[in-house]
Amino acid sequence: MPEGLPDPGKIWNDFITNPLVQTAATLIVIYVVLLWLGTAYWAFRDMQARSENPILPYFASALIIFFTPLLFLFAVVLYMIVRPRETLAEVYERSLAEESLLAEVEKNELCPVCRERVQSDWLVCPSCRTRLHRVCPSCNRLADPEWPLCAYCGHEFPRAARPPVSAAPRAAERPSELAPEPTGFRSATNP
Ligand SMILES: [Zn+2]
Ligand SMILES: [Zn+2]
Repeated sequence: MPEGLPDPGKIWNDFITNPLVQTAATLIVIYVVLLWLGTAYWAFRDMQARSENPILPYFASALIIFFTPLLFLFAVVLYMIVRPRETLAEVYERSLAEESLLAEVEKNELCPVCRERVQSDWLVCPSCRTRLHRVCPSCNRLADPEWPLCAYCGHEFPRAARPPVSAAPRAAERPSELAPEPTGFRSATNP
């Protein structure tokens, strides 16, 4: 070995026997092992949040453990691909949103004749002129045209005054009569 040229084997040997390097290597190994175990725990909790099956979380962490501290990142990729897409909380939230949407749709009333959307306090369907409600002459609240008496005050509606279904086409011929409907109804009930 010529003088002045460093021996690579000796440098490497000095390096790996250096106590500082050995300590650093030990710490790195401990860290990787902790990361491996922590990832296994994460997979366990993650599967718990995504499945009601009590066995699957153990399978998820076993998958991470099985891939050893050197290769467990491959197991993480594999797990992220096969795990359920939604967490249970997300599934619950989505079903709640769907339910409220359904309730919203049901709340919107439809005209019984033309199926157009109508408001619950409209007297007449603006599309087909069908009578939707009438005003009770006693309490001035909206009553269903089918009711024989007012649900709010008990006022008896005379049978003749109940608007028949055939009133719709007749009303269509004379739209000017539609506007003062409550007044016309009142005069009909009190002849
Ligand atoms: Zn209508
Ligand atoms: Zn009434």
